[in-house]
Amino acid sequence: MTDRRTELAANLSKVEERIAAACDAAGRKREEVTLIVVTKTYPASDVRILSELGVRHVAENRDQDAAPKAAACADLPLTWHFVGQLQTNKVRSVVSYADLVQSVDRPKLVTALSTAAVRAERELGCLIQVALDAEENGRGERGGVGPGGIEELADLVAGAPGLRLDGLMTVAPLTGPYAGRQQAAFERLMEFATLMRATHPAANMVSAGMSADLEQAVAAGATHVRVGTAVLGVRPGLG
Ligand SMILES: *Cc1c(COP(=O)(O)O)cnc(C)c1O
Repeated sequence: MTDRRTELAANLSKVEERIAAACDAAGRKREEVTLIVVTKTYPASDVRILSELGVRHVAENRDQDAAPKAAACADLPLTWHFVGQLQTNKVRSVVSYADLVQSVDRPKLVTALSTAAVRAERELGCLIQVALDAEENGRGERGGVGPGGIEELADLVAGAPGLRLDGLMTVAPLTGPYAGRQQAAFERLMEFATLMRATHPAANMVSAGMSADLEQAVAAGATHVRVGTAVLGVRPGLG
């Protein structure tokens, strides 16, 4: 346990240095970027250590793993983000612990989240997940809505009881015109975010960048980076 703490502290400070350097290079203040540690596949004991080390935002992508972990960590001052593809039959569970869902990508999911949030008497923050590799009105292979679907979803979330429209999220595409061009992808996301803020001025979160491309996300203007591997280590198997 002591060893794990030392390891996580060292990794966290390396990531912190990377974020600070990227902010510096971009002429941004460090406070403009929030670190979300993606704890998927790692145990609640790691989440507890991270909390002791000052982490305030954690993210998960599978309800089966996240629900017991969040319950075991309910005493910690953490904000929980859900970032995975979400089936409507898991919505009720996710809404019981998640403060934000970053993977909103279809109208049916908005309706289900709204119903669950109202029932739980919670306000749920929502980010629209944008698939930059999808057809204009299509859907991405790793979830997300094509650019043509952003406005409709944003309006739906903004008008849904129990939901708060917070901004946009993306995962850098592995295929299509943005493959290998993370910064261009994140800059495109920023353009969509700016457009969205014209009608939804409070929706100012832009979640982009992971362990491999957080610098590009900070350079493009992301407000939130989601870092797993660089803090917790390489996930065994598929994560
Ligand atoms: C796993 C995951 C991350 C973190 O990825 P790393 O490469 O481990 O930093 C970020 N965002 C989403 C949506 C993820 O599923």
